[in-house]
Amino acid sequence: MPFTANRQFKAHPRMLAAAQGMHYTAADGHQVLDGTSGLWCVNAGHGRQPIIDAISRQAAHLDYAPSFQIGHEDSFRAASDVAALMPAGLDRVFFTNSGSESVDTALKIALAYHRARGEGQRTRLIGRERGYHGVGFGGISVGGISPNRKAFSGVLLPGVDHLPHTHDLEHNAFSRGQPAWGGEAYADALERIIALHDASTIAAVIVEPLAGSTGVLLPPKGYLERLRAITEKHGILLIFDEVITGFGRLGAATGSEFFGVTPDLMTLAKGISNAAVPAGAVAVRRSVHDTIIEASAAGIEFFHGYTYSAHPLATAAIRATLGIYRDEGLFDRAKSLSPAFENAAHALKGSPHVIDVRNLGLVAGIELAPRPGAPGARAAEVFGKCFDQGVLVRYTGDIIAISPPLIIDEAQIGQIFGTLAEVLKTVD
Ligand code: PMP
Repeated sequence: MPFTANRQFKAHPRMLAAAQGMHYTAADGHQVLDGTSGLWCVNAGHGRQPIIDAISRQAAHLDYAPSFQIGHEDSFRAASDVAALMPAGLDRVFFTNSGSESVDTALKIALAYHRARGEGQRTRLIGRERGYHGVGFGGISVGGISPNRKAFSGVLLPGVDHLPHTHDLEHNAFSRGQPAWGGEAYADALERIIALHDASTIAAVIVEPLAGSTGVLLPPKGYLERLRAITEKHGILLIFDEVITGFGRLGAATGSEFFGVTPDLMTLAKGISNAAVPAGAVAVRRSVHDTIIEASAAGIEFFHGYTYSAHPLATAAIRATLGIYRDEGLFDRAKSLSPAFENAAHALKGSPHVIDVRNLGLVAGIELAPRPGAPGARAAEVFGKCFDQGVLVRYTGDIIAISPPLIIDEAQIGQIFGTLAEVLKTVD
């Protein structure tokens, strides 16, 4: 099983049998409120009829179309629908099947772009400590999670540097919304990396606007703006990995829109199809796209693609999903719920073991003091007890992450944090 302590799972398997709206049904029949949108992906809630209908219609109508050399109309419509939600300028879309594929695709597009411009020596990539960019070799190389990297350390991509992460409990604990401290200073570390290698060797910087998987690490105020200014000054592409922050999580279509900072490329997945069919995409600034296309006329090709790029079932699910977001105003709903969500999360301040609560949009991180000698054990226990009491939370290390579907209501927000408060009282 992926990222699972298999022995622990065997000892106490928690199995899901069905899902509808805000709830899973566990195999033993009890209802579990989905506090995590599955894995940050079911943003419109489970079992949505328009998506089911679109997938079934498409399966009967056009089950598959080769993605090389031939197109199908729905793929272009889906690309336009995605582009319509992107910040101005990022209106070219390449489809993938997952976040990991989107990341590797974006890194390759960045290299192809510089090569097309005659700057093929720009090959260095810059990620960030505690960044998560999926599990492809590109993604783990720019990612900053040592357990994901160490077994492969000899074969990670060469020429990768990492910015420091922005998690700072000393200055920013219990911040509401974006933390105030340290933004520009953290971003200025990029200038030091550039000074070391020279800008002419650097292709791209990739960061999650808000890092989800490694425990809800927020960008302090001014941080993303400063990264944008530095990359722009040096001709380095800025990639936002919006696999989690895309499609409403922060109360806007993208993190880019929420933070008011526009990257050159954006990686997407998860909420793009409400997870009903595996799907992902890379949104690309038109000038980057055009540069690559023009160079191909001169014989510099960009060879890349997947058998299932723009799979008809995926494009059907994407179009239906984006239709739900629009028709139900779910991004605005997330925005208007976020003050209540913030208050409910911060009510955990003072609960046993809680050393930080942080939040943005419909994401919260609750950090617990680790149990001496057993890091992660306390959060694992909280996860198990919450599940058994009818609320699904996620944990990574000793951080609990909450990221419910955007259709959640205030009573359900109360149930998530209320259950957590009760469970925390019962944990050593
Ligand atoms: N990037 C980010 C920011 C993610 O959060 C994830 C998944 N949690 C990925 C990439 C990888 O996505 P996938 O698991 O679909 O490959």
